[in-house]
Amino acid sequence: MKGLVYHGPGQKSWDDVPDPTIEAPTDIVVHIDSSTICGTDLHILKGDVPACLPGTILGHEATATVVEKGSAVTTLEVGDRVLVSCITSCGRCRFCKERRYGMCTGGGGWIFGHLINGLQAEYARVPFADTSVYKIPAELDDEEVLFLADILPTAYEVGVLNGRVEPGDTVAVVGAGPIGLAAIMTAGLYTPAHIVAIDIDDSRLARAREFGADVTINNASGAAAAVSEVMKLTGGLGADVAIEAVGVPETFELCTELVRPGGRVANVGVHGHSATLHLETLWIRDLTITMGLVDAYSTPRLLELIGQGKLNALPFATHHFRLDEMMSAYDTFGDAAKTQALKVVLAAEPLSDKPRAAHKESLVGVA
Ligand SMILES: [Zn+2]
Ligand SMILES: [Zn+2]
Repeated sequence: MKGLVYHGPGQKSWDDVPDPTIEAPTDIVVHIDSSTICGTDLHILKGDVPACLPGTILGHEATATVVEKGSAVTTLEVGDRVLVSCITSCGRCRFCKERRYGMCTGGGGWIFGHLINGLQAEYARVPFADTSVYKIPAELDDEEVLFLADILPTAYEVGVLNGRVEPGDTVAVVGAGPIGLAAIMTAGLYTPAHIVAIDIDDSRLARAREFGADVTINNASGAAAAVSEVMKLTGGLGADVAIEAVGVPETFELCTELVRPGGRVANVGVHGHSATLHLETLWIRDLTITMGLVDAYSTPRLLELIGQGKLNALPFATHHFRLDEMMSAYDTFGDAAKTQALKVVLAAEPLSDKPRAAHKESLVGVA
């Protein structure tokens, strides 16, 4: 089969690789129906994630069809369509029992395209299948649910829920990339008074309005303008919740300046450098600061909201490719400033149209 292989910093290619097989009785093997690329994949390609070894197939977001199941898998059948999430859960460790699946110590957590081969490929092995994948309702298309594999639960759990957004709140979202837009969209579920989007790019701010922001602030000239506009909007108090969705020191520090006393700062951004926590001014302001990796415990609920038409993830899909156009999809996604890409959708040929004899043969004799 083909897969997008990481060959060390700055190097990747769409290679012929061995077909995945069942390695543990709790595994399934899936045919990837649709996949996408994440900012985290670009971090790996920069060399920022040393745990991801050269030779690993990248990707941690997909919809797929089960083609083979291990002997211990009881809730899935060959032919089931499933969402394969960025987070895998062993279901047994202490953290999984506390629904903190992202911290799984039993072999799960964020493993796809990181510690094991990922989902930017024609097929993939999925460990702990019973406790890790989500069946896709027949009436929903792949593209409608694909972004539940990462950005929607990440923005919702780590941003909106950790930030404890409540009806009537003023929510400031710093950064209007895919994660910031997903935070804006899911914050809207709570009928806040205002959703303020802050970014340095006017076209992203225009998009933030489409996703539900009612106030937009361009902070290209520095933090002061953003702080004073938020203060004006909130009678001098500050936002109830500030969601950091960029991952650089300046935007984190801006969030701590934007919130009111007693407010919440929810960090979602992936940081590569240390930020300064100004305790000399913050100690008296009763702030709550949260951070975290997604656990994906909210995925079933978000899936229901999509099924009910109360959440629409389709606007994230700005560019479409065939799965074998992976390299061009990376070019488009990697140059988002120019291409205006939010998320790219890579769609495989439907399973039924594919010659699968070779794949079946490779599975003979496996558990
Ligand atoms: Zn991701
Ligand atoms: Zn676990």
